[in-house]
Amino acid sequence: MSEPTFAPIADMLDLLATFGDRYDLEKIKRAYLLACRAHEGQFRQSGEPYVSHPIAVAQTVVELGLDTDSICAAFLHDTLEDCPDCVTPDILKEQFGEDVFLIVDGVTKILQIEVENREEQQIESIRKMMLATSKDIRVIIVKLCDRLHNMRTLGGKKNEDRQRSIAVETMRVYAPLAHRLGMQRIKLELENLALLYLDPVGYEEVTSAVDARFGRSRDVLVGARKAIEEKLRSSGISFTVTDRIKSVYSLYRKIYELGKPFEEIFDFYALRIIVNTVEECYTVLGMIHELFSSIPGRFKDYINRPKPNMYRSLHTTVVSRDGIPFEVQIRTYEMHKTAEFGVAAHWRYKSGERGNPYVDAQLAWIARLIESEENIDDPEEYMHSFKKTIFREEIFVFTPKGDIITLAQGATVIDFAYAIHTEVGNKMIGAKINGVIVPIDRTPQTGDVIEILTQSNHGPSRDWLNIVTTSEARNKIRQWFKREKRSENIEVGKEAVTRELRRLGHAFTAAETEEIILAVAQRMGMQSAEDLYNAIGYGGMTMSRIAVKLRDESTRLLKNQEERQRDAAVADAAALADFKDSKPKRLKNDGGIVVDGATGCLVKFAKCCTPLPGDPVIGFVTKGFGVSVHKRDCPNAVKGVSDPEQADRWLSAHWDMQSVSTLYEAALSVLSQDKIGALASITTALAEMKVSVLSLTTMPPKDGMAVINITVGCRDVAHYNSIVSHLRSVKTVVSVKRN
Ligand code: MN
Repeated sequence: MSEPTFAPIADMLDLLATFGDRYDLEKIKRAYLLACRAHEGQFRQSGEPYVSHPIAVAQTVVELGLDTDSICAAFLHDTLEDCPDCVTPDILKEQFGEDVFLIVDGVTKILQIEVENREEQQIESIRKMMLATSKDIRVIIVKLCDRLHNMRTLGGKKNEDRQRSIAVETMRVYAPLAHRLGMQRIKLELENLALLYLDPVGYEEVTSAVDARFGRSRDVLVGARKAIEEKLRSSGISFTVTDRIKSVYSLYRKIYELGKPFEEIFDFYALRIIVNTVEECYTVLGMIHELFSSIPGRFKDYINRPKPNMYRSLHTTVVSRDGIPFEVQIRTYEMHKTAEFGVAAHWRYKSGERGNPYVDAQLAWIARLIESEENIDDPEEYMHSFKKTIFREEIFVFTPKGDIITLAQGATVIDFAYAIHTEVGNKMIGAKINGVIVPIDRTPQTGDVIEILTQSNHGPSRDWLNIVTTSEARNKIRQWFKREKRSENIEVGKEAVTRELRRLGHAFTAAETEEIILAVAQRMGMQSAEDLYNAIGYGGMTMSRIAVKLRDESTRLLKNQEERQRDAAVADAAALADFKDSKPKRLKNDGGIVVDGATGCLVKFAKCCTPLPGDPVIGFVTKGFGVSVHKRDCPNAVKGVSDPEQADRWLSAHWDMQSVSTLYEAALSVLSQDKIGALASITTALAEMKVSVLSLTTMPPKDGMAVINITVGCRDVAHYNSIVSHLRSVKTVVSVKRN
């Protein structure tokens, strides 16, 4: 490698040097050099050397005023993933310390989302980001700087789908996060850049509308600004005034999403006045209201009541002498810094410090989000609670002991109970606000003192799930039901599913329902149908989430059944056709019988009972056709023997096992359910046993039953019995009897 050159970062190093010993320049240079070496030979899609990206990210981190370790991590943020051969966790830890490694590792784990199941993957990615961030908030700050540069250079990506999906993710996840962290400047740029890719036409419309009005706005503001500056100077307050034009995206939202006409956007023109102290803010506010008439209802005091992201400022909208409304924002330099850089501003001069209350406050909501997400099986629900956590407005209420509890606007006293402690929520039976008993769905206001009445051995009610408004409370209630009431949950879940299946209009048997539910459960990554019922029962899974899958699986089952029936019908037809095509076979079974006192005469087997070797037999001397052999228990034989007129013609007979022929005819009558496929399964069973089938006839079915008469070739009684028992094992066969 050639001599180290710091030319690309010379300006950055010069700037950092002006801060004396606040930055470890040697360490920063080492991080830069390692990044150069690691990314050597790598290029971005735009063709630039890859290292230009980490340099730009580090640049933004420097602008935010973050510390040495954050800057080093920014230089190295892509090395673990992209250059595993030359940068390992151990190398980072040894050369740059644990903190740098943790930040790089945290940023690395927030992978880009390119997997098929985008939504679930996205949530997994947010979850990891939140976990890493809860350990060190610098992770998310570096990640936002990374995303900002990727958005600034998104045009270099060749694939339009990728551009779009990155822009969507920026709009859905990163811009809201930047907002929640109070990093307004980054948030606005992320939104505008994302909009440029998501709706280029709308973006163009808004910017040209802004351009068209810019001249006029400047005229308006020039006059107003001059008046304000004169007034402030005469009062001796030192101040800075800047113009502000609303961001393209916030105008876009007001126009397209809220449907406001351009003319009605009062804060389109704005002046920002920055002063030294809070007192001066209110003094300036008074002067503004003396100079211009204000629009009622447009004054907001975010100094006394900061936004959840700690934004503080006074906002008022006044009307210029030309009759054009504009907004004035008044704040101190300190507030301004917070407004622009948010959590990063508070990191600024306190490198490595962990006890900063501002940073702690930011970590608190992140910790809450992680806690609330843990048991959510439902990605939509998670995204919803993520958004709510990020965008929510908060109220401050008190416990009877005077502790402050922060609640989302609209939270109920049940939410309050769960915010104090899970057990307080679970055991709650009522609540008092300012000493007065209130219904449990009451929403407290800032400043209320709330007392929760509890009773041991008490549990939450399922209705509460419809009352609470915070996902924390909802999750804790679900957890309780999940833990305490599995069998009840399963019943509730089962009912809900049965209802839904009925709604689909199919009557499924219990076995079929079970099959469908199991398939759905497995698609949701669960082990059993019961797990799914349970999840539905305790509310961890919403019906709307599985309705589509239920429909899919029901349709699939019906389709399979149809296919099976069709196959079976084809098999039945084939089985019958086989016998129709084949010539009737006849076995010669005249051997093996010894008829006492009738040696040498013609012996034939009676058709009424087709005796088999082994059957007790009896012979009947016919008139001219030799001896006909019956089974001893053949009804004809029994009747004949007892008939005095023919008794003498019955002769005893027995088998001569040495001379029996190989096969004898045996007639079977099979009683079977009249079902498609029944015939095929009988002939299949016979074929499996290699039984020769001599004839097969089916009788017209009656009462859902069919009689099938089959003549088979048998060796002896034992063979016959084995055939019968095998046939009885066929599912559709009800009984088999010998004719
Ligand atoms: Mn990167």
